[in-house]
Amino acid sequence: MNTIKIQAYAAQNATAGLAPFGITRREPGPEDVEIEILYCGICHSDLHSVRNEWSEFMATNYPIVPGHEIVGRVTRVGSAATKFKAGDVAAVGCMVDSDGTCPKCKAGLEQFCPNMILTFNSPDKHLGGFTYGGYSGSIVVDERFVLRVPTNLNLAGAAPLLCAGVTTYSPMYHWGVTKGKKVGVVGLGGLGHMAVKFAHALGAHVVVFTTSPGKKEDALRLGADEVVVSRNADEMRKHEGSFDFILDAVSADHDINAYINLLGVDGNLTLVGAPAKPLGVTAFSLIARRRSFSGSMIGGIPETQEMLDFCGAHNITADVEVIPIQKVNEAYERLLKSDVKYRFSIDMASLKS
Ligand SMILES: [Zn+2]
Ligand SMILES: [Zn+2]
Repeated sequence: MNTIKIQAYAAQNATAGLAPFGITRREPGPEDVEIEILYCGICHSDLHSVRNEWSEFMATNYPIVPGHEIVGRVTRVGSAATKFKAGDVAAVGCMVDSDGTCPKCKAGLEQFCPNMILTFNSPDKHLGGFTYGGYSGSIVVDERFVLRVPTNLNLAGAAPLLCAGVTTYSPMYHWGVTKGKKVGVVGLGGLGHMAVKFAHALGAHVVVFTTSPGKKEDALRLGADEVVVSRNADEMRKHEGSFDFILDAVSADHDINAYINLLGVDGNLTLVGAPAKPLGVTAFSLIARRRSFSGSMIGGIPETQEMLDFCGAHNITADVEVIPIQKVNEAYERLLKSDVKYRFSIDMASLKS
């Protein structure tokens, strides 16, 4: 197979951090799209993977090139590719392939396909080895997994839509968040701030729960109607039994029942954060009002496109701090301290300097 050599940033082991590394991409096949990467968001899962912190269920294969919030410009398309042409702005998210034939794929739920291929750290059926992500100069992807980006969107801010965006949009759509619904967002970080923007744009009454009173003004600016400091029991009690939907984006250990109790009849709480410790759900919290408790992971390709189009119509992007790739290790340290508003977006032009 013909290949091209490109520049990337990779980690060689769990402790080395990221450094310049040359990788190989395949020449575009008939159905492929080649994209020059302009921006790549930094997702918390990049950091977990680089440091092999999810070794129990998804061990890291080194060297690893992370990055699955990719926005760029199409440079070449294969002879049978019809969706894109050179010069188009395009995006790639968490997946680059699936079998395309199973019931999940047929339903546009590629994220649940047993043969889904992640953008990084998945077996690469074309080149052998493992897939390399967006901390790189370019990427070659089957056009089925390439998304269109509305032209009015700021590209640095659009990159995080590909993971943080669809991760929060998908459960809201699934659980019927619409005008007039009361929606809670727990945790105001990369995921949470996107959830607030979507819930607001969908017309819901949005309540943000945070442990830090200092985030109140920002939450209101992002579209919240109310902000509740979750440590204040009186404030929490006022909202008991009143929510239609709550999105929980917290990855640290926390009292989940305190939030389930805020749901009304048939209310749902969906987890998109991934606390390491099991959560102790009290049966009566659920039984009392026929509440449900669920989880959600990214979204399918049709839904990801729908989310991007929604963002185009409502002019929604992530709030980002743009950094050069040379600052990526520093950015990881800051991410651990939640010291970013609200997502880092790497300007990939810096790879050439
Ligand atoms: Zn992600
Ligand atoms: Zn499938």
